[in-house]
Amino acid sequence: MYANVIIQYGNKAVDREFTYIIPISFRDKIKVGHRVRVLFNNREIEGFVLEIFDRYDGKYELNEIISLVDSEPILNDEMLYLGREICNKTLCSKISAYQVMLPKALKASESTNIGVKKNRYIVLNVSLEKLDDYISKCRYPKQIDLLNQLKDKERILFSSKFSGVDTLFKNGIIRYEYEESYRYNVNASGRYKVVNLNEDQLNVVNSVDLFKHDTYLLYGVTGSGKTEVYMELIDKVLKNGKDAIMLVPEISLTPQIVDRFVTRFGDNVAILHSGLSDTERYDEYRKIMDGRVKIVVGARSAIFAPFKNLGIVIIDEEHTSTYKQENHPRYNAKDVAMMRGKYNNIPVLLGSATPSLESFARASKDVYKLLLLTKRAGNGKLPKVHVVDMKNEIKKGNFILSKVLIDNINDRLVKGEQVILLLNRRGYSSMLTCRDCGSVLKCPNCDISLTYHKTSNSNRCHYCNYSIKNIRECLQCGSSNMKDYGLGTEKLEEELNKLFDARIVRMDMDTTSKKGMHEKIVNDFGEHKYDILVGTQMIAKGLDYPLVTLVGVINADSSLNVPDFRSSENTFQLLSQVSGRAGRSEITGEVVIQTYNPEHYSIRYAKEHDYLGFYKEEMSIRRELCYSPYFYITLVNISSRDYDIGFREANKIGDYLRKNLSNDTKVLGPSMANIFRINNVYYYQCIIKYKKDDKLNKVLREIDDIYKINTLVDVCVDVDPVRI
Ligand code: ADP
Ligand code: ZN
Ligand code: ZN
Repeated sequence: MYANVIIQYGNKAVDREFTYIIPISFRDKIKVGHRVRVLFNNREIEGFVLEIFDRYDGKYELNEIISLVDSEPILNDEMLYLGREICNKTLCSKISAYQVMLPKALKASESTNIGVKKNRYIVLNVSLEKLDDYISKCRYPKQIDLLNQLKDKERILFSSKFSGVDTLFKNGIIRYEYEESYRYNVNASGRYKVVNLNEDQLNVVNSVDLFKHDTYLLYGVTGSGKTEVYMELIDKVLKNGKDAIMLVPEISLTPQIVDRFVTRFGDNVAILHSGLSDTERYDEYRKIMDGRVKIVVGARSAIFAPFKNLGIVIIDEEHTSTYKQENHPRYNAKDVAMMRGKYNNIPVLLGSATPSLESFARASKDVYKLLLLTKRAGNGKLPKVHVVDMKNEIKKGNFILSKVLIDNINDRLVKGEQVILLLNRRGYSSMLTCRDCGSVLKCPNCDISLTYHKTSNSNRCHYCNYSIKNIRECLQCGSSNMKDYGLGTEKLEEELNKLFDARIVRMDMDTTSKKGMHEKIVNDFGEHKYDILVGTQMIAKGLDYPLVTLVGVINADSSLNVPDFRSSENTFQLLSQVSGRAGRSEITGEVVIQTYNPEHYSIRYAKEHDYLGFYKEEMSIRRELCYSPYFYITLVNISSRDYDIGFREANKIGDYLRKNLSNDTKVLGPSMANIFRINNVYYYQCIIKYKKDDKLNKVLREIDDIYKINTLVDVCVDVDPVRI
């Protein structure tokens, strides 16, 4: 018998299957999906069995598989299918398509030391009579105490504090039992109650057919009770004896949402997010694999949860770009959800208050089934939104906060209510400029200015992490006449502290980099230990605080100015999401949006809570410019450390695409990427726009094949990119 094995070798050119002989000793055991150890290039490495067969007609002298790593296959049939599909859709390497589905402990690798934690229990090994006999002769009070406990306890968790346990074991009085334990556990806070769904919610729940595959788009305004709908559907799925996957964006995977699920479903829930350590992640994964839980709530990679009897996949905030993995393999969890939906013949539910244009367009063409929740559930009203033109404020000397916002903040502080302020830029100021020679302090490795961070007194590059401390003088002319421009969250926090007598907390990548800090800030703010929460877009999602009645957006233009065809959509979504944080209880909320472009349509529609208006206007622009959802987009990114080689090869690739793709397909570029140089690598890109192109996959593979052995140029294909 023979097996084809895909190995992890860390070299694109070796990304294919190799044949090995299956030794007689484990012929009965080995299955497709098993993780095995094999010899490759005289090195012992791991791989996955993808095929088993009887006859080998090739001419190579084959090696034997050395051993099976696990007793059972790690990849089940569905995962093998997903791996093939992901590889096909994203053009990624084969091995990466399988590896990405697994926690680190189960990936094919050279070694991992992530083990299973086992608890040791002490169990009585003799009859009660014999026990009494032993106790009567025993001289050690501590042993007697332990033995007495065993009289009415089935087992006792071992502790090093016990003494004489070894003697008891040697004498056969007790024995040990071992049981796998899980390191990550959450308990319900008791803060949440199960609510009775209103009529609209019930309608939505009843519209979902749990016994066939369809994709549903639930368009429900913020606070309309979508999460309650998800939980109700999951409850039904569980009653049918099936399992459920619930995806939420990484940054909305807050303790709040976890708490709500644990309150409702107890220890039937596994949680997967990037804050877990490798061992915790392994434990959560095993809970799913071993059938100990029936629900997973998690970020992107939870879409691969190895449930054997999946009943529904729900994706909340479906418009979020982080469902797409931005490095190899560039899969989108939404696509994987559809694959699993079809494979298992089960529904996939996408939910959002601001659906992506792609999803809403599909829903309006009945490709997806549209479900609606148009009102807030708890009788709360949508907030009133003020748009402030900062051009006028600056004339009055208000550079950071407008008068309206200051007055409103003061008003809430007096009333004992809470305020959330969004500023989508971390650090203190965005650039340092010399007043004498005009030069800007830039990253030596990237085409980008350095951001000043006051807390660490350093100027840092947000792309390559370069950092330089204590700059007081211009590096070009030596002048000490330096001025910083641009506003970051650090400076905003400082300014707020000057203006208000309030308890202020900041949440951005810098204050949440330590494990547990994100949870802490969220909880503390929830317990009203702070009055004002300042943060980057991290704060825009998923948080539900009844006391927040005012939301301020400090600079709505920062996302508008991004050179990407989705910048208006992203701005509209961000403003709507963050506005949705205000007034989620009885008190109606207010939102103040500060901008230099008050007439911009994404801001105008966000002010009116008019998703449909925005959708129509944006769709007509997309049609005009031939962008998604009218055209599909694929990016070919070409990068090199050598400026000239990068330029030359990028042009060759552009020509090749133009020559070989269908006539209706448009190829733009190559052009320089938005940030041309990052970490001393130069980036070019070709944009391919197409409606249908049967040649595309083949042509891209050809390019990939040519360049995967080229060490000077890196070519990376991004199908359906989330940013350009
Ligand atoms: P969404 O996910 O759409 O933002 P949630 O499910 O978080 O909405 O609900 C918003 C708020 O309304 C929550 O505090 C929730 O407990 C409450 N809520 C939802 N459905 C109901 C209901 N049927 N009756 C009362 N309160 C509800
Ligand atoms: Zn200077
Ligand atoms: Zn840099």
